[in-house]
Amino acid sequence: MCSNDRRIDTILAQAGNRVDQETGAISMPLYFSTAFRHQGLGESTGYDYSRMNEPTRKELEKVLAIMENGSHAFAVTSGMAAIQLVFTQFKMNDHIIISDDLYGGSYRFFDLLKSNYHLKFSKWDGKNYEKLETMINEYNPKAVWIETPSNPLMKEIDIQKTAQIVHHNEAQLIVDNTFYTPLIQKPLNLGADIVVHSATKYLSGHNDLLSGVVVCKNEKIAEVLNYNLVTIGSNLAPFDSWLLIRSLKTLPLRLEKQQNNAQKLVDNLRQQKYISNVLYPGKGGMISAYFTQEINVDKFLRSLSVFSFAESLGGTESLITVPAIQTHANLSDEEKIKTGITNNLIRISCGVENEKDLIHDFNQALSESKLL
Ligand SMILES: *Cc1c(COP(=O)(O)O)cnc(C)c1O
Repeated sequence: MCSNDRRIDTILAQAGNRVDQETGAISMPLYFSTAFRHQGLGESTGYDYSRMNEPTRKELEKVLAIMENGSHAFAVTSGMAAIQLVFTQFKMNDHIIISDDLYGGSYRFFDLLKSNYHLKFSKWDGKNYEKLETMINEYNPKAVWIETPSNPLMKEIDIQKTAQIVHHNEAQLIVDNTFYTPLIQKPLNLGADIVVHSATKYLSGHNDLLSGVVVCKNEKIAEVLNYNLVTIGSNLAPFDSWLLIRSLKTLPLRLEKQQNNAQKLVDNLRQQKYISNVLYPGKGGMISAYFTQEINVDKFLRSLSVFSFAESLGGTESLITVPAIQTHANLSDEEKIKTGITNNLIRISCGVENEKDLIHDFNQALSESKLL
C-alpha cells in the first residue's frame, strides 16, 4: 500500500511491496491472466477482463496518481497512446489551442486529427498571455495543450498563469510533463486538469520500455477517460506495467544524477567557442545547444564514443539527437528557420554516467569535427 503522507522517494522505492498479503512478496506480483473467475452471478473480485482492469497495472496506476497528485492515472502503451486517449474526449469542430514548440509526434497527430476528424488547432507562442486570453475569447477552445519546458527549445511556460486564463472559460489545461517529471514539476498542483507523459522517457528511464501515462484530478474527466480507454484498449500490458513499477523505484536517484550531469555539461558547453548558444532552463537533464558554422555535425556525431546519436531521452544512457532531421523532420524548411530548429541544433539527454567521461567525450568529438 502507498500512503500519501510519505515522501515521494519512499513511496516509489516501496511501489508494489505489501500488495500480496498471502506470500509477503516484496516485488510486485505479475499477473498475466486476461480473464478472472466469478463465484456466481453478479459477483466479481473487482477484476473481470484485463482490458478493463488488471492487478499489476492497477498498482502502477495507483503510484502514478500519487506522483502527480492526481486522483486517477491511466497507463497506456506509449506517449502517443496517452495523447490519443486525452483526445477521445473531443469531437469534430472542437477547437484546441497548442503551444508552438511541441514534440514532433504530437504535431503529426494533430495534423491527422485536423485532416481526418475535423478538429481545429491554433498555435500560441507560450509567452504572450494577453494573446492567449484573446485567442480563448475568439475560439472558445475545449482545451489548451502545452509542453513545458518545450521541445527542443527548452522554453518554460508559467503553468499557473496559463491555468488561470484557461479557466476563465470552460476549457481544460493539458500539460505534457515528460521532460521534467513530477519530481521537478506537478502541473495538477499548478492548476492543470490533465497531465500526460511519454513514460518511455524518464519514468521508465532505461531506453527499453515504450509506455505512456495520463493523470487527472477530476472525477468527471476520469470517468470519460476510463470509459474511452476500456473502449479503445490501449492499456499497458502486465509485464510492461511491472517493468515500469520497477523503474519508478529509482527515478529520484536517476534524475538527480542526470540533472547534476546536465549542469556540469552546461558549464563546460558555455566555455566552448564552437558552441554559439546553450539552452538550459536550470533544471532537469535535457540541454539543447547550437554549433557554430565551424563544426561538421555529421563528423561530430561519428566521433562520439560515450554519447549515442539516437532519438529519445531520459534514459540511463546519454543520447544526442539532431531535432531538425529526426524528431522535427516534418516541419517545413520555413518553419525550421522561423522556430530556430536548424541543422546546427543538437539536443542532449544526459544519462547517469560519470560527468567527467561525458565532458571528455563531448569535447574530443568537438575538436575532431572542426572544418579546416
Ligand atoms: C517521446 C515523447 C512523446 C511521445 O511518446 P512515445 O512514448 O514515443 O509515444 C510525447 N511527448 C514528448 C514530450 C515526448 O518526448
